[in-house]
Amino acid sequence: MVAGPIGHLEDITYRAVRTLAEADIVAAEDTRRARKLLSRYEIETRLISCHEHNERKRIAEITRLILDGADAALLSDAGTPVISDPGYRLIRAAVERGIQVTPIPGPCAAVAAASAAGLPVSDFYFAGFCSPKQGRRQRRLRELADLNAVLIFYESPHRLMKFLNDALDIFGNRNAVIAREMTKMHEEFLRGTLDELRAAFQNRTPKGEFTILIEGNHERNATSD
Ligand code: SAM
Repeated sequence: MVAGPIGHLEDITYRAVRTLAEADIVAAEDTRRARKLLSRYEIETRLISCHEHNERKRIAEITRLILDGADAALLSDAGTPVISDPGYRLIRAAVERGIQVTPIPGPCAAVAAASAAGLPVSDFYFAGFCSPKQGRRQRRLRELADLNAVLIFYESPHRLMKFLNDALDIFGNRNAVIAREMTKMHEEFLRGTLDELRAAFQNRTPKGEFTILIEGNHERNATSD
């Protein structure tokens, strides 16, 4: 399980590069994107596509190749495989067949954002993507409203405002951080209350990739002590 960059192509470990170069096959979510990364490091390993829609079909093929002696690397579109990305079923199938699964650690947008946010992230809860459906999203946010831990979400640019509206309604005006386009040319960290962050996007169209961190419910902890 090879972690790759979340933007900047230099954000990859020596070990990840060597693993990709030495593998017999690299299974990648998007082979065009993977090819860009592999070319950057002059790696010529055979690529096969393995994404949400063909994962089940690919499992039999990839595990067969491994059982026949091949070394396979799984590479996500961005960051760490399986974290809000496909790969879980492949790992489970590999483990069931006695295949050794090893992480090659590296970037993950949630952890990168937590490291620079300036929020008390010794306790955090990774919530990933909320549902695009408002009812489900609100229900999910209500489930998380009492947690005294920084909440970390992924969100697409065109749902950012809807997410911020619901978060403000359900959590109240908590401190939050929006990490946009980390490691890329337009990287930006916006810090403030949910209301201020929503206002910041009132006059600009959200573009790029967003990770959102929201402070936990401290009052809950204070009253339960
Ligand atoms: N596996 C990845 C990881 O380890 O972080 C996450 C994959 S998930 C499909 C993609 C989401 O992660 C994006 O929609 C965005 O919310 C977040 N993300 C990825 N790259 C980012 C970046 N450079 N800056 C901010 N958020 C990012």
